[in-house]
Amino acid sequence: MELAGKVALVTGSARGIGRAIAAALARKGANVVINYAHSESEARKTEEMCRSYGVETLVIKADVSKRDEVRRMIDEIIGKFGRIDIIINNAGILGKSKNPIDVTDEEWDAVMNVNLKGAFIVIQEALRYMKKGKIVNIASIAGKDGGTVGPHYAASKGGLIAMTFNLARHLAPDILVNAVAPGPVDTDMINDELREKLRPLSLTGEIAKPEEIAHAVIFLLENDHITGEVVDVNGGRLMD
Ligand code: NAD
Repeated sequence: MELAGKVALVTGSARGIGRAIAAALARKGANVVINYAHSESEARKTEEMCRSYGVETLVIKADVSKRDEVRRMIDEIIGKFGRIDIIINNAGILGKSKNPIDVTDEEWDAVMNVNLKGAFIVIQEALRYMKKGKIVNIASIAGKDGGTVGPHYAASKGGLIAMTFNLARHLAPDILVNAVAPGPVDTDMINDELREKLRPLSLTGEIAKPEEIAHAVIFLLENDHITGEVVDVNGGRLMD
């Protein structure tokens, strides 16, 4: 798919991987909708990066786990652009507990509601208007091998991968649905201790840069014969 002139929503794109994906889309000439939950000033920085490529942008605050906010966001996108061609479900939270015994019901629900249900709500609301296009869900290596994180995070990402397969079947051939499953990425989601612990686990001896994830997303968007696929970007840590 030619990305120039398309309208792309990137959830959680005020920073980190989402910001890198937004910038990569803009570099390809796509108009970018920058969604954020907390920091408008950071979202505006992403917008500035995108605008430097001469594309149109829209910044929208919406919690992806809340249907009314997502519905309003999608309506606003349609109001401005009249279309939506690309959805990147990137918004995600790690949850603070790693030890299964520490995970409260509230924490379990919060992680599931953002990482899994949120991605579904965004797709479902967008499908009211989106008849053709591409969806990429940002999963995680934890969704495939369990990871070194909390069980709720791993389950949410495993669920996101299963949902990717299911939607790929339902929405083909008009909408192609794929996922990217990163290993550790150098963003604010992981702290220095975790970064140093995880670095040696990849064969490249490195933590991925957000741009490496964005690169895989662009590859999936530009290719018109891949659907129901999960692209691993983990420096060879997991081979399957
Ligand atoms: P990050 O914390 O820097 O970015 C996540 C973004 O999502 C933040 O801007 C946050 O405000 C936003 N967000 C959180 N809850 C939201 C909500 N309810 N509604 C809208 N936005 C919300 O982390 P990141 O590393 O850039 O993570 C991006 C995605 O990549 C996440 O889905 C994460 O699970 C996944 N991932 C990250 C890593 C890693 O090591 N950093 C590895 C594998 C997968």
